[in-house]
Amino acid sequence: MKILVINAGSSSLKYQFIDMETEKVIAKGLCERIGIDGKFTYKTDSVKIDAVDAAMPDHSAAIKIVLDALVDEKNGVIKSMKEIDAVGHRIVHGGEAFNSSVLLTDDVLNVIEGLNELAPLHNPANLTGVKACKQVMGDIPMVGVFDTAFHQTMPAEAFMYALPYEDYEKLHIRRYGFHGTSHNYVSKRAIKMLGKPVEDTKIITCHLGNGSSITAVKGGKSIDTSMGFTPLAGVPMGTRSGDIDPAIITYLMKKHDLDAKGVDTYINKNSGVQGISGLSSDFRDLDKAAAEGDKRAQLAVNTFTYNVKKYIGAYAAALNGVDAIVFTAGVGENDREVRKQILTGLEYLGVDVDFDYNENCPRGEEVDIAKKDSKVRVFVIPTNEELMIAMDTASIVSK
Ligand code: AMP
Repeated sequence: MKILVINAGSSSLKYQFIDMETEKVIAKGLCERIGIDGKFTYKTDSVKIDAVDAAMPDHSAAIKIVLDALVDEKNGVIKSMKEIDAVGHRIVHGGEAFNSSVLLTDDVLNVIEGLNELAPLHNPANLTGVKACKQVMGDIPMVGVFDTAFHQTMPAEAFMYALPYEDYEKLHIRRYGFHGTSHNYVSKRAIKMLGKPVEDTKIITCHLGNGSSITAVKGGKSIDTSMGFTPLAGVPMGTRSGDIDPAIITYLMKKHDLDAKGVDTYINKNSGVQGISGLSSDFRDLDKAAAEGDKRAQLAVNTFTYNVKKYIGAYAAALNGVDAIVFTAGVGENDREVRKQILTGLEYLGVDVDFDYNENCPRGEEVDIAKKDSKVRVFVIPTNEELMIAMDTASIVSK
């Protein structure tokens, strides 16, 4: 079975074409500046087309360009569109309506459209991608895979905010959690690596990238996660504040004379490790500056690692113990110094890290950086959201 995975944004569309027999990506790339001047990237084992000009006035035109490339006589990887068995779409918000991936029928699309208000930047763009594919690809089955779905197993006490209950009912204000596809993927890999029955497993997954979230996974199910009603909550991120005292919002509005949009930009774009360091949202820059003695860069990294550590402690309590801590995404997979800071001082949990191996372990591979007799395993697992989307899509269309 061959699955096309689509991640559509408002002016971009990323794609991967995956052969499920081998789980290998046969072609991938992206369409950028859709509706502007159009740039197309396409890569296979033997072909590399990088950000070439391509007219794409809308998402349908972008999809057509992707399909033309896939079936192209010279550079293509299939003979006809019929070889695409299904399309898996990343959809950011499934609200409380979707606790798993779903076939995208017209009825389902209407329900997703009703959730647009919960993710106004993402869901409408994701839906535009689905509609464009439907228009161009006819009746090839389409599946929606939601960032929120994995977290729908959280118990009420974990997802409720202490606000008037009516606004949970009327306005749907609650913790949803995000990065679900990544937490789902790496926790499944970790369960395999632990070699225990799934129902006996307690795992804390740390997706640390430009956006970061931590999840407590018990028996394969998310029971709590650090992001909330929006992806702004939890640990400090590249440019997002993470958890702050909510009273700071109105105080900032008064002091800086900000309106709702202004304060939104302040906490989403000007905060996080960028805000503290005044230097960069990229941990490579911060690590380098900190090593050269930049105190604010060091403070930004320290604040980040301290907060991740606090979540690990909180989730060890929620899980009543922990079998494995997992690091994934750009920072989690690559930043050895950040991992070291987070993992130092967790002996009380039974975490005994091989810090030499943490320094020297290979990149891009699943590794266990805990010492042999550590009570808790510490895995670094490269995330693969596209493969997870493709696996869910394949399983739904096979039914
Ligand atoms: P992601 O959102 O998962 O794509 O992660 C992107 C972030 O990962 C970047 O902004 C960097 O902060 C971080 N990152 C990527 N590579 C490295 C590296 N080699 N060392 C430290 N941080 C890295």
